[in-house]
Amino acid sequence: MSSYSFNGRTLVFATMHQKERILKTDFLNQLGITLVVANAFDSDAFGTFSGEIERTQTPLETARLKCEAVLAQTQADMVMASEGTFGAHPHYAFLPGNNELLLIVDKRLQTEFVTSIWSTATNFDARYVSSNSELMAFAKQIGFPEHALILKSSETHALEISKGICTKAELLNVFAQLQARYGKVYAETDMRALYNPKRQAVIREAGKALIELMASTCPNCQFPGFAITEYVPGLPCAQCQQPTRAIREHIRTCKNCKHQSAMLFPNGKFTEDPMYCNYCNP
Ligand SMILES: [Zn+2]
Ligand SMILES: [Zn+2]
Repeated sequence: MSSYSFNGRTLVFATMHQKERILKTDFLNQLGITLVVANAFDSDAFGTFSGEIERTQTPLETARLKCEAVLAQTQADMVMASEGTFGAHPHYAFLPGNNELLLIVDKRLQTEFVTSIWSTATNFDARYVSSNSELMAFAKQIGFPEHALILKSSETHALEISKGICTKAELLNVFAQLQARYGKVYAETDMRALYNPKRQAVIREAGKALIELMASTCPNCQFPGFAITEYVPGLPCAQCQQPTRAIREHIRTCKNCKHQSAMLFPNGKFTEDPMYCNYCNP
């Protein structure tokens, strides 16, 4: 076992929406890390999904601020924060996407570990509804009541917001009250992790990628987090052998000793389809 082993260490999670439950077992079984929650941590102070507090930083910057806040307030030497964002998927713009970023700041090793994944397996959605049947059709579509709903008096600058609605009786009751006052009501999926099993699955996926990164060590000095730092294009065309834009190799770089290793044909593909070749199919 190397001196950089995580076994027996404690990781403090800056979260208040029970995300530790999703990741606890994987961290313990894969790395021997005990995941605990930061006491009295108010992550909403850093911005919320339903728009009461605007987020001003990038997800990575926000996650770093959360980690720093916990490091400053506790004796912890390893802290994790997570940031979820929702919107158009970067590769499939017509599909809704969920990005989950996980950051660990490790004071003992003086390093950071970060993963960020996109998934289309999300129910992120919102719309104005003006009748019980419209409301219930939307609720059915997003997987209510396993997935909770938020009802607001308007899309932006809402005067009234009701979150974490997960029974039909409460949904109809809150809707009737808001409809009486505002006519139409804005319904949206509650994306807080504890109210959204689909998001929990994406967070778990991000956790697995982070654990894999932490378990990947430099072959020269065994420092953890031996991450891909460069994607080199140039996979040869199957027909003319000229280089294409497809990835030919991955390069990993050690943050500690700067050792580099290349992995050729990382996707198990040795040539690219001539359809994507600039010479064969310009
Ligand atoms: Zn070609
Ligand atoms: Zn190294």
